[in-house]
Amino acid sequence: MYRKHMTERECEKTKQEQLRMLHRGLYVGEFYPQVEKIVIRYIRDYHSFAGDVPTEEKSWTITPQSELFFVIGCLNRECTSIGFNLQSVISSAIHAQKTEISGEMKCDGQEAPDHPEQSCDGSLKYTIKIKYK
Ligand SMILES: [Zn+2]
Repeated sequence: MYRKHMTERECEKTKQEQLRMLHRGLYVGEFYPQVEKIVIRYIRDYHSFAGDVPTEEKSWTITPQSELFFVIGCLNRECTSIGFNLQSVISSAIHAQKTEISGEMKCDGQEAPDHPEQSCDGSLKYTIKIKYK
């Protein structure tokens, strides 16, 4: 993602456009017919100047009826990124027939729309379990 000075409104518009492109109206079952269930357990982290945002582990269950959309938002409310897109991580895990993967991702956004020089500090730790039919 390229960095530039934006107003909050421009930033919101850019994010909405990116999200619209990712919501393609596809379902997990159409795309990955061999998958029965995907469970993503994750913790997000973000340290702001105003103090740390409390973090907690969350769980997200994806079934064949779920939309093909694996984006988890960043904890930084002013972040210019739509968040953490796990699409390629999940896709390569399924192609390799893995049942469990874990990793970490750094946010690719900037701290705030008017702070192009400062990268967002948000991060995501995830463990993904995939059950096949
Ligand atoms: Zn962020």
